[in-house]
Amino acid sequence: MGSLVIENANLFTGVDEEVIHNGAVWVSDGIIRFAGHQSSMPPVEDDTEKFDVCEKFVMPGMTESHVHLSYNNAHPQQLNSQPLPTAMLDAADNARVLLGSGFTSAISFGSAQGLDVPLRDAINSGRIPGPRLAASDRDLGSTGSNADGTFGGDNSKKIIADGPWAIRKAIRTLAKRRCDIVKIFLDGEALSEFAPPGILTYSDEEVDAAVEEAHIRGMRVVCHSRSAAAVKQAVRHGVDIIGHANYLDDEAIDMLEAKRESVFISPGIAWEIALLDRGSELGLPRDAMEQRGYQREVDETISAVKRLRESRVRVLIGGDYGLNITPHGTNSKDLEYFVDLFGMSTAEALLCATRDGGKAADPSGMVGTLEDGKYADLLIIDGNPLEDIRILQDHSRIVGVMKGGVMHCALMQKNPYAAPDGRTG
Ligand SMILES: [Zn+2]
Repeated sequence: MGSLVIENANLFTGVDEEVIHNGAVWVSDGIIRFAGHQSSMPPVEDDTEKFDVCEKFVMPGMTESHVHLSYNNAHPQQLNSQPLPTAMLDAADNARVLLGSGFTSAISFGSAQGLDVPLRDAINSGRIPGPRLAASDRDLGSTGSNADGTFGGDNSKKIIADGPWAIRKAIRTLAKRRCDIVKIFLDGEALSEFAPPGILTYSDEEVDAAVEEAHIRGMRVVCHSRSAAAVKQAVRHGVDIIGHANYLDDEAIDMLEAKRESVFISPGIAWEIALLDRGSELGLPRDAMEQRGYQREVDETISAVKRLRESRVRVLIGGDYGLNITPHGTNSKDLEYFVDLFGMSTAEALLCATRDGGKAADPSGMVGTLEDGKYADLLIIDGNPLEDIRILQDHSRIVGVMKGGVMHCALMQKNPYAAPDGRTG
């Protein structure tokens, strides 16, 4: 694969909030050998290729912490309705768009029809472009849970299991299918007629069986938990990444703080924001969505994330992109929400997207920061996201995406993987 030095960069390594002017990154065989000030770089072979990036911003590739690559940018009630061959092609296209949007890692929160594993394998073998994917499969939930036909969906695209042994069997099946991630529903959704947030859809015994079985088989567990009760249930039983966590009480915050070295929160706020702002396009007017409680959910999430930050619990960006109101490729919108809604500095939001997301995506610690010994996953940005975080939403500013030392577009050229018009939202 050879050796390459990126030089003359404004370098954000993701280790801390600092930007190193005159920064350099030395990449050899897909691994970073040095990242820091150019003057302290060790000597490299004379024939090492050099790229002068003319003071562009170089940062770690980002992690989308809650991805559904099987979503086909459709109405929420028509998601996953396409036949399998079409769905597979859509998923491959979505993986390409996600990588081109600056996301070199992604954690699946469920894929209809079990598309993730073949997708991950095709990406890893280099046949198609895409992020490093922690692959899951169909959602797992109980009868009457949010996985069970909330949106009138087809249950063959979900796994409905009740009781510890049925759950263990379902998870053993996921292990056989070579999943990395198990996605379970612990409570529901304000749009649901029968499974709202706050009503637990699994018992403690069932969640305990799910997490134990997944961990025995080397898989991690991610969950849908909106209410404090469902978050506490997740923490009690050792769920690894908790999705949503909109409503938190003191006890939930204390429990999360006690486990902050091992647990991550992925709010996925784009769903509520898009539903309120653009739901009318779907026949779901704002008034009706406010009555359902979605504005309150946003307000509660803002205060929850504030408390999580005070308790230094890691909060990750991303979630539920791939609907017609949140198309694939617009995932960097989350950084804007983190700054504007959650009150983070641009540097703090970038660290959520890089360092913290990377740790969640790859617990072995190979991604998320630009440091000696890590995978060479980085972005070259025309502009400074620390001055304006929205720059990352503009695909024409993402002039280089490197994953494992492979540059997925020519340096300083328009990103060929940018989503085509009409899909950038
Ligand atoms: Zn989701």
